Amino acid sequence: MIDLHCHSTASDGSNTPTELVDLAVEKELHALRIADHDTLGGLPEAVKAGRERRLCVIPAIELSVNSVWGSLHLLGYFARPDPANVGGRVVEIQSFREHRNPMIAEKLRTLGVPIDFDDVVRAAGGQVIGRPHFARVMVEIGAVSTTQEAFDRYLKKGAPAYVDRERLDITEAVQLIRADDGIPVLAHPGLISLADPYHDINGVLDAFVDMGGGGVEAYAPVHSASFTDRLLELAKQYDLLVTGGTDFHGDTKPHLQLGVGDGLFSVPDDLIPILIDSLGCIPDGCFDI
Ligand code: AMP
Ligand code: FE
Ligand code: FE
Ligand code: ZN
Repeated sequence: MIDLHCHSTASDGSNTPTELVDLAVEKELHALRIADHDTLGGLPEAVKAGRERRLCVIPAIELSVNSVWGSLHLLGYFARPDPANVGGRVVEIQSFREHRNPMIAEKLRTLGVPIDFDDVVRAAGGQVIGRPHFARVMVEIGAVSTTQEAFDRYLKKGAPAYVDRERLDITEAVQLIRADDGIPVLAHPGLISLADPYHDINGVLDAFVDMGGGGVEAYAPVHSASFTDRLLELAKQYDLLVTGGTDFHGDTKPHLQLGVGDGLFSVPDDLIPILIDSLGCIPDGCFDI
């Protein structure tokens, strides 16, 4: 059993990188790839914990990018936890949040939600501050009953307190990952908004390959068996690496378990040697594979 897509407290997961590695060892996973949203922050700790516990931890990131198909998620994975080109660019993107967060707070106050930004900072507890932390404070002060209500009424895209984030363009993101000898992989393609996903995904992958894309996350709990089969077939056709993972977030998405997703999900172990072969070297955090 392996899991090539999960999140830590470096982004919006509820487990620290070390806790994720411990959980993976407990569940007898053979490999884990930690891919936090727009940050490499959790990777040094994850790789160190993987080494200590002799679990193969593959450094990765999940970038939010703009594309002609709308905003989507691009995974990049690397042999080392500190890819310089991607690292430099995500620091710039995160610094945009320093402008965005006070804008969200101001919009909420205008809408009659008396949010104190210090409380949001506290809720984030050192993590990159984002909308989930606003939502948590809104529950605490009784402005809404649940974090989901905070998103639905105020924070989701199109809602009155929404402020867009800066995102990389998909082509630039692919080039950055390649510049760090990483492999750009289209994350959970089933979530891309396409009129007819089963047929239109062909054109997406065709264009992705032209951009320099290297792989596709065929195995994901959000994919039906037939959509996964379709992606496997196209991966073969376009010579794309196949990956898969649960998108585990801990308590943030309690219905998804590490390694097994909804319980029936699994990712084949034999993807690992192929992945390592594509990286061209054994990743820093990997042993005994
Ligand atoms: P941010 O990075 O500040 O834009 O926040 C993104 C995070 O907010 C996502 O990773 C989700 O955890 C959460 N989120 C985004 N949209 C929604 C939604 N409609 N309902 C609940 N949570 C959401
Ligand atoms: Fe997330
Ligand atoms: Fe994602
Ligand atoms: Zn994810």
